[in-house]
Amino acid sequence: MLNLILFGPPGAGKGTQSEKIIAQYKLIHLSTGDLLRSEIQGGTELGLRAKTLMDQGLLVPDEVVIGMIDNKLKEHKGCPGFIFDGFPRTVAQSEALDALLATYGESISVMVALVVDDNELLARLLNRGKTSGRPDDQNEALISKRIHEYNSKTKPVADYYQAQGKYIAINGIGEIEKIFEGITEAIEQA
Ligand code: AMP
Repeated sequence: MLNLILFGPPGAGKGTQSEKIIAQYKLIHLSTGDLLRSEIQGGTELGLRAKTLMDQGLLVPDEVVIGMIDNKLKEHKGCPGFIFDGFPRTVAQSEALDALLATYGESISVMVALVVDDNELLARLLNRGKTSGRPDDQNEALISKRIHEYNSKTKPVADYYQAQGKYIAINGIGEIEKIFEGITEAIEQA
């Protein structure tokens, strides 16, 4: 299996690049943000609880997203691999993911990180907010809060996979095709 973590702050281009990776490698896309948004749309209790935190730009509890990932791994057993987008976002989530994959005799193949500076992220997210309809893309204070959450809680996830020799960083600014080329090179090396 090819199990890829597409890593990077909000607005780094993970969603855009995920679509291209999936088309090429036939992986199952697991975006915890998308899964949470569909819980919200479905009006589930989990969705209602998550919404309060998401609307403040805060992370939802580890056990919530780990449980969702656990279900999806079971559902797609035997697929060619997974692309994890927006997950893991804490070291505890990384440890849980490694343990879950190990129960299937699997592991993360590579983490590809899209590197984009904070000013560019803010500009991109404000722009995306004009059309995305996402409440958390609508104002500067909320976007800054999400970037802050990323810098304080999520960045250590990169060190965690770097220690396993699985971390590859790619410049996330520039042409979409060029960035995708960098990602495919990283995947081929994995
Ligand atoms: P995203 O679509 O990845 O930008 O996620 C939107 C929001 O969903 C985040 O700001 C968090 O509130 C929540 N979220 C998504 N994925 C996770 C995760 N792995 N851990 C905790 N919270 C998450």
